Amino acid sequence: MSQHVSIDRTRSAERIGRDIETLAGPAYTSSERAICRYAYTDVYRNTLDYFRERLGELGFRVYEDPVGNLVARNRPPGEPVFGLGSHCDSNRNGGKYDGTMGVVTALEVCRLDAELGLGLPLQLISFLEEEGSGFGQMLLGSRIVAGRVTERALRQDVRAIDDGRSFWEHAEEAGYQPSRWPECAAILDDLTGWLELHIEQGRVLQDAGHRVGVVSAIAGYVHADVEVRGRADHAGATPMDLRLDAGTVAAASLLELQRLARRANEKVPTVGTVGEVSLDPGLINVVPGGARFSLDIRGVDDRVVGEVFHQLSGFAHERAGREGMTATVTERQTVPVTPMDARIISALEGAAGRAGEPYTVLHSGAAHDTMSVAGRVPAGMVFVACRDGVSHSPEEEARPEDAAVGAEVMLNAIAATTES
Ligand SMILES: [Zn+2]
Repeated sequence: MSQHVSIDRTRSAERIGRDIETLAGPAYTSSERAICRYAYTDVYRNTLDYFRERLGELGFRVYEDPVGNLVARNRPPGEPVFGLGSHCDSNRNGGKYDGTMGVVTALEVCRLDAELGLGLPLQLISFLEEEGSGFGQMLLGSRIVAGRVTERALRQDVRAIDDGRSFWEHAEEAGYQPSRWPECAAILDDLTGWLELHIEQGRVLQDAGHRVGVVSAIAGYVHADVEVRGRADHAGATPMDLRLDAGTVAAASLLELQRLARRANEKVPTVGTVGEVSLDPGLINVVPGGARFSLDIRGVDDRVVGEVFHQLSGFAHERAGREGMTATVTERQTVPVTPMDARIISALEGAAGRAGEPYTVLHSGAAHDTMSVAGRVPAGMVFVACRDGVSHSPEEEARPEDAAVGAEVMLNAIAATTES
């Protein structure tokens, strides 16, 4: 069993706080009211350069892969290293902490390792475009690394929200070599393990009064669209029992999804959301002849998520059919649950225990880059509390003091898994 390494938490909190405040400054965000930075913009470039400089000062070799994922390591290529990091892009109306706190805390672990002379083999990664704010595709950088994209998508389908030009074109213009994207996979080659620290984006830790959490799994999800066809009619002249009102099927399905998700959640954490609804033609004096709504169903048990999806699909079909309408359900994307590695979880729990820090073991409802890493590398995540669970908002708030505890736990967990 390894010795626990204690750190000067006050000093670490100061450094983490300073990095976060610096990266909230005007050179690092394109909005005055929020953090707004995404791939291939000047403010994103400045953010990567900030990390490049700090890591260079620590003697790390820093480079960017062919699309712009940032990598920094303190061992030569080919030698085993432990990976740690997150993302430093933001939601378009984002806060200071989502993602950035994870990269800043990873940097702090690298600093502590150097300062305390621990000599841990480390590789920091900051993934490109996690939030999808530039190109509308979540986890884009890490999915490229994991090979979960196609060349066709990168060349054609993935397009900038701002100007509609392709990811490929933008990447080339920013000086990268997107044609070499398959080589991005190599950035995980030498990793013996992986840790990402992130704000919780929920309020489990706050309610438990704990500063840190150990993630057990990242929820899987089904994203789908339901399209209902009825018949558009005059809203004044058509009697109630002669209507084929597609809107009523959408409304009933929305409530049914709530009921199904609540019932499933009694057994295992499950949530269901209808986030997009549109009615056709969408006019005040016309009975909607068409309706479209989205489904977002997530949970930590793939079978249960699948069941809720199938029950809701069945409900929409039945409800539409009974009234002489049709419902078509189309899956957009299905992603399975990503369990975290048991050995990494126990290293984190051991480190938190030896640090005398109470912690919660919890799952992540939100997606993270770690989902892309976990297919190849034993992976884990540390959560820190965020006020009232608020994220993706300039109101987002988390404490550098908690991230310092996270840094101590990560440092010790890495030391324990590296030596055993
Ligand atoms: Zn994030």
